[in-house]
Amino acid sequence: MAETKRDYYEVLGVDKNADEAALKKAYRQLAKKYHPDMNPGDAEAEKKFKEASEAYAVLSDPEKRRQYDQFGHSAFEQGGPGGFGGFDFNSMDMGDIFGDIFGDLFGGGARRRSGNGPMRGANLRASVRLTFQEAVFGCEKQLELTLKDECAACHGTGAKPGTSPETCPKCGGRGQVVMTQQSLFGMVQNVTTCPDCGGSGKIVREKCTACGGSGYTSSRQKIKIPVPAGIDNGQSIRIAGKGEPGRNGGPRGDLLVEVMVQRHPTFQRQDMNIYSTASITFAQAALGGKVKISTIDGDVYYNVSPGTQTDTKIRLKGKGVPSVRNRSVRGDQYVTLVVQVPTKLSSEAKEALRAFDAATDRSLEQQDAPAKTETEKEKPKKKGFMDKLKETFED
Ligand SMILES: [Zn+2]
Ligand SMILES: [Zn+2]
Repeated sequence: MAETKRDYYEVLGVDKNADEAALKKAYRQLAKKYHPDMNPGDAEAEKKFKEASEAYAVLSDPEKRRQYDQFGHSAFEQGGPGGFGGFDFNSMDMGDIFGDIFGDLFGGGARRRSGNGPMRGANLRASVRLTFQEAVFGCEKQLELTLKDECAACHGTGAKPGTSPETCPKCGGRGQVVMTQQSLFGMVQNVTTCPDCGGSGKIVREKCTACGGSGYTSSRQKIKIPVPAGIDNGQSIRIAGKGEPGRNGGPRGDLLVEVMVQRHPTFQRQDMNIYSTASITFAQAALGGKVKISTIDGDVYYNVSPGTQTDTKIRLKGKGVPSVRNRSVRGDQYVTLVVQVPTKLSSEAKEALRAFDAATDRSLEQQDAPAKTETEKEKPKKKGFMDKLKETFED
């Protein structure tokens, strides 16, 4: 870093607490003023434009801005504390920034930076369907896509091999023309895409026959999609360099694959945790014991304590979804225990339940009347037995 760099906030003319909207506004004004398309051949303007773009690229990224606030420019120097290993203007995702800023300025799209400079290709989007388990444990999927490639015959120029595209005479290669119109408020200047070259700045007199002048050829390609464990519905996987080809030697864009995760009949997922319900019998709830519970790792046995009520929630630690960043970190599973009331009973089971009911009545009465004498206590016991006998004959 031979040159001393200006403070990024100073470059954009904003204060240290400027919010995102203020940054964008400041940058938009500077970019309009110094954009190379507006100042052809002006090296000073180009320098100012790059300086503003770099400042905006750093300050509009919350993480980079934090590093810059803490360490200043040294955050982006070789071996700096930020670990960025040097600020590289060309490796920045200018595609996104320009798309955002210049979308309305120049009519957006791929024409925003016309001329001969390298341009990164656009990103492609696709989606892939996953089962619940595939998302939880990760997998590999394959997509078949039609990808564009630079035409090998014309190297992307679209001109017949042996000829070269000519600089568009209408716009002088800039891709844009300034139209001056008379309006109610005076003369108004509008920058529009050049109608002759369509914004490319070049005119092809003889088209390449291999690609029909488009500069691209298409082919079906099978692309492997490594799905990381723990990915969730709606998240995307970035496959670098599988987007649209770049122009003028620029890098390819990326392929962004959004995942759509199917529902599971038993498990519901919320971030890294899994929610489910498990049935327990009335006897298990009352007496306690081992209960079989389904987890994404298979069945496990859980010891429920005696006197477990319906809707009791238990937690199975580490039986949730792995973190998409670190596979060894897992969420938990929350299980709601539901006590099942039997609907079909054999006469034997009915008999046992009645005996149980009678015994429960007695123990309740004992609890309610602790002062009763021993002889008095025996009375309900006999009554219960007689009732039971009576019911047996009535059946
Ligand atoms: Zn071609
Ligand atoms: Zn033109």
